Amino acid sequence: MQYLSTRGQVSDLSFKEAVMMGLADDGGLLLPEHIPLIPPDELDSLTELSYPDLAFNILQRFIDDIPASRLRELIQRSYASFTVPEVTPVVKKGNLYILELFHGPTLAFKDVALQFLGNLFELILTERKERMNIVGATSGDTGSAAIYGVRGKENINIFIMHPEGRVSPIQEKQMTTVLDANVFNLAIRGSFDDGQRIVKEIFGDLAFKNEHALGAVNSINWARVLAQVVYYFYAWGQVRKNSNCHDVYFSVPTGNFGDIFAGYIAKEMGLPIRRLILATNANNILSRFVRDGDYSIGDVVQTWSPSMDIQISSNFERYLYYLHNGDTAAVSAAMTTFKESGRLSFTAAQKARIAEDFLSCSVSNDETLATIRDFYQATGYCLDPHTAIGVKAAQICAEAPIPVICLATAHPAKFGEAVHQAIGIDPQRPPCLVGIEEQPSRCETVDADTEVIKAFVKAHAR
Ligand SMILES: *Cc1c(COP(=O)(O)O)cnc(C)c1O
Repeated sequence: MQYLSTRGQVSDLSFKEAVMMGLADDGGLLLPEHIPLIPPDELDSLTELSYPDLAFNILQRFIDDIPASRLRELIQRSYASFTVPEVTPVVKKGNLYILELFHGPTLAFKDVALQFLGNLFELILTERKERMNIVGATSGDTGSAAIYGVRGKENINIFIMHPEGRVSPIQEKQMTTVLDANVFNLAIRGSFDDGQRIVKEIFGDLAFKNEHALGAVNSINWARVLAQVVYYFYAWGQVRKNSNCHDVYFSVPTGNFGDIFAGYIAKEMGLPIRRLILATNANNILSRFVRDGDYSIGDVVQTWSPSMDIQISSNFERYLYYLHNGDTAAVSAAMTTFKESGRLSFTAAQKARIAEDFLSCSVSNDETLATIRDFYQATGYCLDPHTAIGVKAAQICAEAPIPVICLATAHPAKFGEAVHQAIGIDPQRPPCLVGIEEQPSRCETVDADTEVIKAFVKAHAR
């Protein structure tokens, strides 16, 4: 399988080259040159596979430059760090299926991709006798998941920016209490979008990028999207075995469009997803896009679901590529228009296509807490605020009798304050969070300035 850029100036990359490039050198995002189709009769046989076997089955369709035995071993090792053997179990609560994606080391779905990506980087760097400096920005969960993905690895240093005071106290502690010498936490005086802009600017300086062997872990890395495709198949298999359904909805709490884009890839591979339900909080540029074809930027507002407090979704460009039928000149032009005017418009044909792929709903702060409360009262199951947004959107958008699978993107204990507001009790902490506030931590506070961050990276690069 070869990879190419959404902007057309990079092509014919191998999988490993695509992983190492992160953001494409022309500023676009990397995609496989085609999406492999799984025939319907083969789909049913996948429901019998364990999570690691299924992951191998899906991933090897996109990866032809890692020997099968190595890829299997890498997958095994990546998911051995999860605390349940199913890796991403599905539980039925009321009439909804909940896909629990939070059993990894940092209790959010990002571990599924970043445990894999950390091991993948290590494998490639060892083969090439190279080193890497990872630079990333986080709205909370990516940072800790990335740090846990590469902590202590020989050939990698990691620099993670988070918006000062805008991640939950536990999220902050999960990052800053990792004291491995290869881990650098930077609290920036700004928003997550500032962090994301700085990352793009740093990677846009190709001389700097090459000099310091920069690598990306933000969801712009294709390997992350790919690892997430697996659990859509896994969840569908679980529901299929239990209910003999065929088509399903997935409801996906969305920020950077990475997770739901993985669902789109699964759909294009032939998984019978009726629609992907795109659930947002008050930062609703994407739900306005789906409902009205209005893709126009607004100000970032803080909500109970901080990992979704995003306006510019970096993975959206990947969907644009398909919406423009692979016309890279059209994608480049659209991205320039968006950069200059802050908005994009779509043709009637494109809007029809969007409506085939997605339903959408934006959920307010009050509705988020009400959903946590109502769901807890009805089922005894405690949702985190991000998951609650997906559940609310599912309740509004989905049409019975098609089953809905809601992605549970974080463990409620990561967002205890919101849960406490909603139901008056603190969610039970899993062992990895007990006493985390008292542990020693390390972090630098800096201005949200690209040159300042570059100087820091330069001074501490491997
Ligand atoms: C990152 C994150 C999201 C949003 O996922 P995207 O891939 O950015 O759309 C939702 N919920 C939680 C808990 C997250 O950490």
